[in-house]
Amino acid sequence: MNGRFGLEINDALIKDYTTYKLSGTIKKVVFPSSISQLQALLNYLKKRKIKYMVLGFGSNLIFTKNYDGVVIKLDKLNELKIDNNLVRVGAGYSLKKLAVKTANLGLSGLEFAAGIPATVGGAIYMNAGAYNSAMSAIVKDVLIIDDQLELKTLSNRELDFGYRTSLLQQHDYICVSATLELTYKNKGEILALIKERKKRRLESQPLEYPSAGSVFRNPSGDYAGRLIEQLGFKGKKVKGAMVSKKHANFIINIGDASGADVKKLIMKIKDKVKKEYDIDLIIEQEFIE
Ligand SMILES: Cc1cc2nc3c(=O)[nH]c(=O)nc-3n(C[C@H](O)[C@H](O)[C@H](O)COP(=O)(O)OP(=O)(O)OC[C@H]3O[C@@H](n4cnc5c(N)ncnc54)[C@H](O)[C@@H]3O)c2cc1C
Repeated sequence: MNGRFGLEINDALIKDYTTYKLSGTIKKVVFPSSISQLQALLNYLKKRKIKYMVLGFGSNLIFTKNYDGVVIKLDKLNELKIDNNLVRVGAGYSLKKLAVKTANLGLSGLEFAAGIPATVGGAIYMNAGAYNSAMSAIVKDVLIIDDQLELKTLSNRELDFGYRTSLLQQHDYICVSATLELTYKNKGEILALIKERKKRRLESQPLEYPSAGSVFRNPSGDYAGRLIEQLGFKGKKVKGAMVSKKHANFIINIGDASGADVKKLIMKIKDKVKKEYDIDLIIEQEFIE
């Protein structure tokens, strides 16, 4: 490829591209610097049947082994244009940064996102959310590259958002940018809400350790963390992967954990919860096998 499709890094470390900071390597990471370069890269990879994936901040992923394909990072697709209450933003833009930026302009809608370490593209893919809000509440439309490598605009309705799901998960679509529709509110109130939630997260989540946030979705009418804690899992380890003592629905990397260690621990918890409570916990994090 020789840099034809943007900056390339060979034999990268998974820990440099994911929030779990797991061990292992990625064969190649490419940073296309324009949509057309991204389309050309996808065309190249598809034609040669080379394995690839798009990576945001890697804040929801568990690489269970070395990745022998191409990881595409959209960090350079990070343009931002704010036109009154409409925010046009590239998929590679940091969601946290955007939440603070819009809050400072008195634009409300992204308060929930100020503690989510995601890219805009990854957050739309996952319909990331918190505090009873989610990306689906603010996305007006999204520009994607479809499986035929055509650019298409999808409206909020077409994106078929659900709880931590979107149409992007059902198709081979890549989000390149989005338009968000925010509302004007008192800037002081927006910033105060963000501050209070940040404090709550710091108090309740083990943010001092590498993790990928909540491991399981909450089952209806209950909390995954409560069930896991009740079964005595807090502090339980598989090598460098440990169930947080602060929040039982977080697995943290306390040493040189591998994705296989994290997976093993997740499966132990899932099996035990099924056995003891007959509840099938749904894993919120994504395994890259
Ligand atoms: C400390 C911590 C707290 C968290 N809190 C929350 C929370 O409150 N709420 C919540 O919902 N999540 C939370 N998460 C999980 C995570 O941040 C979200 O799932 C987020 O949406 C992942 O975004 P990302 O950009 O890192 O995507 P990645 O993890 O890199 O990728 C996730 C998936 O999205 C795909 N993807 C990424 N970018 C694109 C794109 N441009 N087009 C198409 N597909 C793409 C990837 O291929 C992958 O399948 C937390 C994580 C951490 C570490």
